[in-house]
Amino acid sequence: MIREQLKAVRDTLADGVALVAVSKFHPAAAIEEAYAEGQRVFGESREQELRTKHETLPTDIQWHFIGHLQTNKVRYIAPYVSVIETVDSLRLMQEIDRQAQRCGRVIDILLELHLAQEESKSGFEPDELLALLATGEPQALQGIRIRGIMMMATQTDDETQIAAEFDRAATLFDKIQAEYFADSADFNIRSYGMSHDYRIAQQHRATHVRIGTAIFGARA
Ligand SMILES: *Cc1c(COP(=O)(O)O)cnc(C)c1O
Repeated sequence: MIREQLKAVRDTLADGVALVAVSKFHPAAAIEEAYAEGQRVFGESREQELRTKHETLPTDIQWHFIGHLQTNKVRYIAPYVSVIETVDSLRLMQEIDRQAQRCGRVIDILLELHLAQEESKSGFEPDELLALLATGEPQALQGIRIRGIMMMATQTDDETQIAAEFDRAATLFDKIQAEYFADSADFNIRSYGMSHDYRIAQQHRATHVRIGTAIFGARA
């Protein structure tokens, strides 16, 4: 079933859009099924669960961390994580930088933006992020490579609103790129779109979509 659903999702992906298969709460066997179909990029949201899966699954899997990350957990994932998508404070950047340098790595991160209406969703407010980048502190950290932005749209059936939020993310990406990363070809990721809204996301310049339910089914 996972095989068919993965294929169905891939058939609807626009050219050049990368798929992060969100495997959180699903067993290793589910990941192996997608892996057998060639999927290599998976998203997980809890450090403990990711650690167990990393230890038992193939080493060429690229793990994207997509959950709330406590600073005291960074050191556990720093040796192997591929991208930390949910970076929402300078303090977290500094800790990722520290742990990356300790491992002799440079870790790719995304800046998480809070654009949705729900208060509960995490991420930087746009003004807050722009003010932080203006200090130059994030860009000076040698152990992180800032690759772009990630966000979640408001949970709503109103597709016009979802599209507007994705557009806002893309516009902010352009502004941040022009002002702070104009010399860096590495600042090139826009991660947004989930099972229910990735079709809209890829019409609004997403480079990466993060899809769980549509591939693996409902989470326990
Ligand atoms: C769980 C999760 C997803 C995937 O959501 P689905 O609706 O299952 O596709 C994507 N992004 C983040 C940040 C998530 O936590």
